[in-house]
Amino acid sequence: MSGSVHEATVIGINSLAREVVEWVLRTDPPEPLRFRPGQFISLRIGEDADGAAILRSYSIASSPGQPELSLILKLVDGGAASSWFRKLALGDRVRFTGPMGFFGLDLEHAGDVVLGATGVGITPVLPMIDELLARPNEHGRVRLYWGNRSPEDLFWQEELAARVRAHQRLEVRTYVTAEAPGWSGLRGRITPAVLADLGELSRPVFYLVGNGAMIRELKGELVSRGVDRKRQIRNEAFFE
Ligand SMILES: Cc1cc2nc3c(=O)[nH]c(=O)nc-3n(C[C@H](O)[C@H](O)[C@H](O)COP(=O)(O)OP(=O)(O)OC[C@H]3O[C@@H](n4cnc5c(N)ncnc54)[C@H](O)[C@@H]3O)c2cc1C
Repeated sequence: MSGSVHEATVIGINSLAREVVEWVLRTDPPEPLRFRPGQFISLRIGEDADGAAILRSYSIASSPGQPELSLILKLVDGGAASSWFRKLALGDRVRFTGPMGFFGLDLEHAGDVVLGATGVGITPVLPMIDELLARPNEHGRVRLYWGNRSPEDLFWQEELAARVRAHQRLEVRTYVTAEAPGWSGLRGRITPAVLADLGELSRPVFYLVGNGAMIRELKGELVSRGVDRKRQIRNEAFFE
């Protein structure tokens, strides 16, 4: 699915965690962009030596119907888009194509929903959780496994905690892999954690997003344990 071209103004720049920054865009004309949680937009961030466009994709981190569009980036040292974003200032204009992509929630779930995200792969997940929690006819659990290197990478802690308080069926499990003296939460990678909990789940559908290596590994392990690749696993790799 190829989206249409939009222009927008940068109206907010918020530092959320270590090298994680949110850019808030207001699209022209001011009616909100129509999209489904999980979809992404594509930005032209420059041209290569042959004049070909350099494009980068970003999942939409805000929910449909909001007046503003949020993008959240993990800035990568020396990355072309990361350098381009660092120079963006309030009031600057950006052009993007979208919304695009098929990484979205199934129209209904008969059982549990498992969201497995690494790092900034969480960006489409919060809007997806909001869509799930707003569905009156679904009662299965919604369980998020979020893997990060360090506590310094974490953001959206209050947003997630507020949803957990308000919805009994939502569980959030945040994992950290690095040695972190002040961290008393869960440790390790999400792949073994998801696999260890498989037996607790009822007719789960898995949504995996972020690091391509995590997705490949977890998907392979799930399939080898009898999870149906087509009917029960959806994924979106941000990078390899
Ligand atoms: C559908 C889709 C949605 C995406 N959504 C987001 C998003 O919401 N937020 C976001 O930050 N990125 C997202 N990405 C990744 C994004 O498109 C860029 O690849 C990323 O911003 C790096 O671009 P760059 O030009 O700065 O670095 P590049 O020059 O393209 O890459 C430099 C190096 O960094 C590695 N790298 C890229 N991203 C990461 C990362 N998060 N952690 C560690 N290493 C990394 C690359 O593999 C490469 O080796 C998404 C990608 C896809 C395909």
